[in-house]
Parts: sequence; structure tokens; C-alpha cells
Amino acid sequence: MQCVTSTAFGPAELLHRLRARGAAAEASPITHIERVPPRSGRQAPWPAWTDPGVRDALTARGITAPWEHQAAAATLAWEGTHVVLATGTASGKSLAYQLPALSALATDPKATVLYLSPTKALAADQLRAVARLGLDGVRPATFDGDTAREEREWVRQHSRFVLTNPDMLHHSMLPGHARWGVFFRRLAYVVIDECHTYRGVFGSHVAHVLRRLRRTAARYGADPTFILASATSGDPAGAASRLTGLPVTEITEDASPRGGVTFALWEPPLLPQSSISIPDDADDFVDVELPPIRRSALRETADMLTDAVVSGTRTLAFVRSRRGAEVVASMTRRSLDEAVPGLGERVAAYRGGYLREDRRAIERALLTGELLGLASTNALELGVDLRGLDAVLICGYPGTRASLWQQAGRAGRAGGEALAVLVARDDPLDTYLVHHPEAIFGRSVEATVLDPANPYVLGPQLCCAASEAPITDADLELFGGPAAAAAVRALVDEGALRRRPSGFYWTHRGRPEVDLRGTGGAPVAVVEASTGRLLGTVDHGSSHVMLHTGAVHLHQGVSYLVDELDLEDAIALVHQEEPDWTTHARDVTNLSVVNVRSYVDAGPVGLFLGEVDVTNQVVSYQRRRIGTGEVIDTRPLDLPVRELSTVAVWFTVSPEALAGAGIEPADFPGALHAAEHAGIGLLPLIATCDRWDIGGLSTANHADTDMPTVFVYDGHPGGAGFAERAYAVAAEWLQATREAIASCVCEAGCPSCVQSPKCGNGNNPLDKDAAVTVLDVVLAALAAPRPQVPAQSAPAAGA
Ligand SMILES: [Zn+2]
Ligand SMILES: [Zn+2]
Repeated sequence: MQCVTSTAFGPAELLHRLRARGAAAEASPITHIERVPPRSGRQAPWPAWTDPGVRDALTARGITAPWEHQAAAATLAWEGTHVVLATGTASGKSLAYQLPALSALATDPKATVLYLSPTKALAADQLRAVARLGLDGVRPATFDGDTAREEREWVRQHSRFVLTNPDMLHHSMLPGHARWGVFFRRLAYVVIDECHTYRGVFGSHVAHVLRRLRRTAARYGADPTFILASATSGDPAGAASRLTGLPVTEITEDASPRGGVTFALWEPPLLPQSSISIPDDADDFVDVELPPIRRSALRETADMLTDAVVSGTRTLAFVRSRRGAEVVASMTRRSLDEAVPGLGERVAAYRGGYLREDRRAIERALLTGELLGLASTNALELGVDLRGLDAVLICGYPGTRASLWQQAGRAGRAGGEALAVLVARDDPLDTYLVHHPEAIFGRSVEATVLDPANPYVLGPQLCCAASEAPITDADLELFGGPAAAAAVRALVDEGALRRRPSGFYWTHRGRPEVDLRGTGGAPVAVVEASTGRLLGTVDHGSSHVMLHTGAVHLHQGVSYLVDELDLEDAIALVHQEEPDWTTHARDVTNLSVVNVRSYVDAGPVGLFLGEVDVTNQVVSYQRRRIGTGEVIDTRPLDLPVRELSTVAVWFTVSPEALAGAGIEPADFPGALHAAEHAGIGLLPLIATCDRWDIGGLSTANHADTDMPTVFVYDGHPGGAGFAERAYAVAAEWLQATREAIASCVCEAGCPSCVQSPKCGNGNNPLDKDAAVTVLDVVLAALAAPRPQVPAQSAPAAGA
């Protein structure tokens, strides 16, 4: 093996090489360099209330004193204040809840603690950490799907620190509360780890599971204090309050030490404009200019990883798909071997699904320096311990700032300098971020969004609550007040609940069947026809678009072709194939306004939030050649119309205002459509959602508004809170959307600005320049101060 690490240059050399490569390009791909200085930690003394036994056990594990943020959060919790600690990766959030929780267990020999985590791996991790302290009488134990029956009985009777997840709480502990009575009676603390992961419909369900937990604990006489740990986000206290239904105090100032990081933002350069020859009507060939495209983020990442290995920098590249990780690893290996035969061996791919031994071998090889480069999916984000990395390359924005920092946080050997690079993909949000570093390094606007008032969540959750214990009038306040009262009335009418003097009772024998991750309709199973192997599932809502007969379906980076979508049995039969085309579903969407909740009257512009009914039918699909995008053919589909009642945000602009800004009426549709696409693409900037969670509709004249209108709606029945968030910060959201379009260097629209991979109209018509004008008109009108009008006085259908 070649030895290139004898003179390890590290991150500084890698950055130098990247800069040199950037300088060769026409426009530098480095759009920003942020220097995050090293920080020395600020310790606080052990809080006076800390149990001496707990303190000694922690000291024996090498913890000499807590950091200031840990002590502050722990003391609030000890005093009975519900608290959320929202600080960076590796800032030691565990100690903040271990201190009060374990001190409480030591002080009160009957007290108990409930710890909730989103993954089993994290719970197992925390179990080890608590068990290692060797404190008498704590008897920490996990309680999850893997816990054997005999063991469950032991956990119920003896453990005072139970680690579980919301699903187990929902399916097992709360319905079986009578058997957990002793545990609930002395419940002192509820710890909710990684609470930012409870978002959207799932988060809304979890919010009610926690309300059920509070009610059950109260019935047994306990009033636990909640301690939440969160990644940094826009409004941690607000999100934690929505999740628990309690007032929560936030601690956000991180006092832990960290090494310095140089963070570069990288936009792959445009490729030289190319053209292809295609036959015209007379069977002659004509040259057609292709739209400008950028070098792919995968290619760029592979080149950087090559530079990293050559400069002796231990580097991890995060790639979003398994296939992408394999591609980056193999491209890197090839170019290294061309330079120095054998050098390619020092790069590997890593993804979820590897055997434990293989994972350990890779971790060891990276630690010893035998491996210098690794391309990985974010399987690494949870549960794997990798240290000693100099640099992290992030190929494509991972969707949330929490994930971004989690990935970047992997770089940096004990106190050393590290490098992180975000490589933008061809996508409006990625493009916006590399040109707006303040959105990454400044104050976060991205908030964890959920909506406990969603009737599709509230109704089923009230049934669960009633089956655990009758719902009293006082309980209704806990579950959402008027919305809960209305939902209970509806459930009584349906016969699911019955009113008796002591409350509302569940009328059925069995327990209600409620899936916390339910998104309306059974998920569709993706099954390999030849082997019967279940590859995975796709949620009901996306199945028509993603799994229609003939669709090319990517599953964990492998390409499959759908032979048949059987809606009755919720199964898609597929076979593995890698055709040289992609498929794009075409659909027809209709939307009607049911009710306006709130609106802003801004003269020629109106901004609305309300309930809408959406009907959607996937009618055909196009096959397009990979690379050129040439349409091979359009094939019809025979799928039923689907209906969705949900929440939307929409804006209207008067035709006069559009015309006054110079847009011809014939261009209204393209202008509005382009603004809609970019708006959907930028929504994840302000709310933790995926663009696939959101739908949109734009029209030059909508029957319900009688105006040119752009609708953006939640893709889940009853809404998940995304539209509501968009309405609340509309000016910020639309301003970012405008910037994303205006700053894109393309001529007439591209995937980085106004084209959408999920457009049901084949991205037609789209008018990039006019979209900027539309947004300028809307933003100018919204900037003029006007009061918000409550829904009661809203005009019918918001016209
Ligand atoms: Zn563009
Ligand atoms: Zn579209």
C-alpha cells in the first residue's frame, strides 16, 4: 500500500486544494467561507442540590463538572420547571437530564423516570450510559418491541428508569396503565430526547400521546416535570410547548468546548452549454441548444474526496442515497488509481444494511488511518462512533439544519481544526442556501412544526384516551379545548363514544386501532415479483405518483420498474431494472376552498389560511431519456380520483396589479406556476418538512377567489402544520423564494429555481422572470402594515 500519510497535511491543505480548483473555474464554486472559531468551554459548579452519590459516579466517569448550559437546564428541571435544552451535537445534553432525574431517584427511593427516544439505538445508548454509573436501586431498563415477555414483567415491577419510545407508550404502557400504576404514581420526570424529530402528522400524534400520559399520571396522583432535548431550531420553546401542551422554558446557549471549523459552501460550476441534433419534421437534423446544467454534486464530491485522500486528510462524505454513496466511492477509487495505482484502496463506501463486523472493520480502518476516505449515507448519523476525522463533505443539503450540523459535527479530532463543505445539488433550497449563508450560520428560522388540532389525529387519539379512562369535561381542555369538544361530539354521533354522567366512554370492546405514523390509508407494499421479497413501503398518499404501473422506482438507490400497482391489496409488484429513461407522472388537480381561518387584506394582494378540498387524479406518465430529458412517449393510466381535505395557505393578486407590473395576461399562468414551484421548494427553510409533504396549485383565475391565485397545501389529511407555518412567516418565506429565483443564473428556469421534480404538468408553462415580478408585487403589498382579520369576518371563500 502506498503511504501518503507520512506528511499529513490535513484540512488546511484540502481547503487550499479546493480553492485552487475553484480558481480554475469561470465563477468560483466557493460561494462562502464561514470560520467557526474554537470555543473553550464554560463550566459551572455542581448544583448544590446534586445528590453526592450521583456526583461521585459522574466524577468517576471523568466528568469533573457540568457545562453551564447543562447546569442551567438541570436546575430548572430540579425546581419543577419544564425545560427544553436546544444546543448543538455533542454538547452533552444527556447530563442535563441525568443530573435531576438520577438525583430525584436517589432522594426519593420510590420515584420513577420515563425516558422517550425516537430510535431503539439511541435508547440502548442511553441505557448503557445510565447503567455504567452503577447507581444502586435505579435498575434502568429498556421497554420496547424487543423486550421479552418475562422481562417486561420485571421492568414494570422493578425498574425506576424506563427507556422506551412513543409507539410503546401508545400501544402498550398507556392502554395497560393499571399494570403500570406503581410506576406512574411516582413519576417524577419525563425525558423526551431528540424532540425535534416529532414533527408533521407523526409529531401531532405524539403530542396527544404525551397528553394522554399526563392525564394518566395525574389520575395516579403524579405531576411529572418534562425535560426535552432538541437540536438547535427556530423556536425550541414554542415547539416543545406544542408537543407537550405545557409551558416550557428554553436553554439555547451552548457552553461546551469545540474545535474550530472552516465551513465552505460550494455550488458546482455550470458545464459548457451543449447542443444535440434531433430530427425535424422533414427528417433533417437540427441542432438544439440544451439548457445549461451544472456538474453533478456527486461528481464534485468524488473529486473533493480524491483531493482529500491525496492531501492525507481523513474525510467522510455524506451522500443522500445508498446508490450515490457507492457511486462517489467508486468514482473516487478510479481517479485515485489513475494517479497512483493502489491508492484507491484507501476509500470505501458505507451504508445502512452492512453487517456489524463490516461496520466495525471500517470504523477501525478509519481510526488507524488505513482508510482515508469514506462515502456514506446518513446511516452514520445515529449510533456509530467515528472519531478522528479531519473533514466532512456534505453532498446535498440533508433537509434540516439539525441534520446539517449533526453531519458537520463529525469533523474535528480532539480540539483540532476541521473542514466542512456543503455541496449544493440542483435544487432551489440548496441553491438558496449556498447563496444565503446567513440562513445556515445566522439565527434559524426553521421551526419544528406539528398540529395537534388536526381532526384526523385528534379524533382517533380521543378514542384512545377514552378507552384508557372516560374523558371528562375537564380533560377536554387538555386535548385542545373547543376543537376537542367538537371532535368528541362528532365521535358521539358516530357511536364511537357514549356520554354518561361521569364522562365520555369508548363503546367498543377492543381498543381503537391507531397508527402514530398513519398518513391516511394503508401504506403500499413494494414487493419484488420474482422473489416475493418486501422491499419497503410507500405511504398511501404518494403511491399513485411513485408506484403507478410502469414507474421507475428508486428504492435505497436501486432502480426497479413497477409491473403492477394493485390498489385493492395495497401492493406494487416490481422487478429490478435499470432503464435509460425516467418516468414522470402527470396529474390533474382541483381545489376548492371550504373555509377561511384567517387572512390579510393587502389591497391588490390577499393572503389566506384555510381549509380546502383537493381532488387529484394521476392520469398518465411520460418516459424521458436520462441525460437529455427527451420525451420518449406519454402513456395513459387508469387510476381513481383521490380526495384530500387539508389546510392550505394561498395568495391572490389582482390582474390589474399583475398587468401594472408588466406581465401580459397570457403570461399569468407561467408566472404563478413558477412562483408556486419555487415556494414549495423553499418551504423547508422555515418548517421541518420535505417538499414531498407539500402540494400546490396555481391558476390565472380560481373559481373561489375570482383572482390569479397560488395555493400551497399540506399533503396530509387535516394538515400537518406546514401551511400554517408558511402563513405565519409568509413575508420571510416569499422573500426567500423571490431571492432563490432571482439569483439563479439560468436563463429561463432550471431545477435550481422554478422547475419541480414532482410537477404534474411536466413543468409547463413556467415563466421565471415573471415569477420574480409576481413575488415583488406580493411582497410590496404585504410590507404595507395592515391588521390581520379574524376568520369570522372573512368574506365567503376568501374572494
Ligand atoms: Zn434556474
Ligand atoms: Zn407544476
